[in-house]
Amino acid sequence: EWVEFNRFFNAVIERFEFSKSQNVRFTRNLYSSSLFVEIDTDKLTQVLDNIISNALKYSPDGGEIRFGVTVSGDYIKVMISDDGMGIPKSNVNRIFDRFYRADRARSRALGGTGLGLAIAKEMIVAHKGEIWAQSEEGTGTTIFFKLPFEQQEDGEWD
Ligand code: ATP
Ligand code: MG
Repeated sequence: EWVEFNRFFNAVIERFEFSKSQNVRFTRNLYSSSLFVEIDTDKLTQVLDNIISNALKYSPDGGEIRFGVTVSGDYIKVMISDDGMGIPKSNVNRIFDRFYRADRARSRALGGTGLGLAIAKEMIVAHKGEIWAQSEEGTGTTIFFKLPFEQQEDGEWD
């Protein structure tokens, strides 16, 4: 299904903004023109739900979550950043592994199975994209993903 990415992303962000119970501020820096992506919207919603729930789960009271969309070549690049506790440097790439959880004690307290990002990676790869993370312990985490896009909706050729 072809969708305009900014519109789709905004709808997901808004749903979290209305339902969140934490004192965490959302700021957005989306793209100013239309970006059409051919996606399975249920699956991409699941990807975003997991990344945003993680950001909320690991954010401090009064923290901020930043949402960004930029374009690089034939891809859109999506960024979701928090100023939470971060992940130890040596383990940043392992967060996409099945059942990996950065810290047993805090993971037990915060719940979850450690599958969310492994599933997100599978889904992004199935959409011909890439997903990765940058994190600094004590400073915060940014999850990035790339997806191929078109300037124009290609549906009319089907
Ligand atoms: P599930 O998503 O299955 O409920 P989970 O959230 O623990 O469980 P993932 O979403 O796969 O699993 O995340 C894996 C691990 O990566 C987490 O347990 C946590 O240790 C770390 N992590 C993920 N996102 C963040 C973040 N924004 N800040 C700090 N740590 C994170
Ligand atoms: Mg998760």
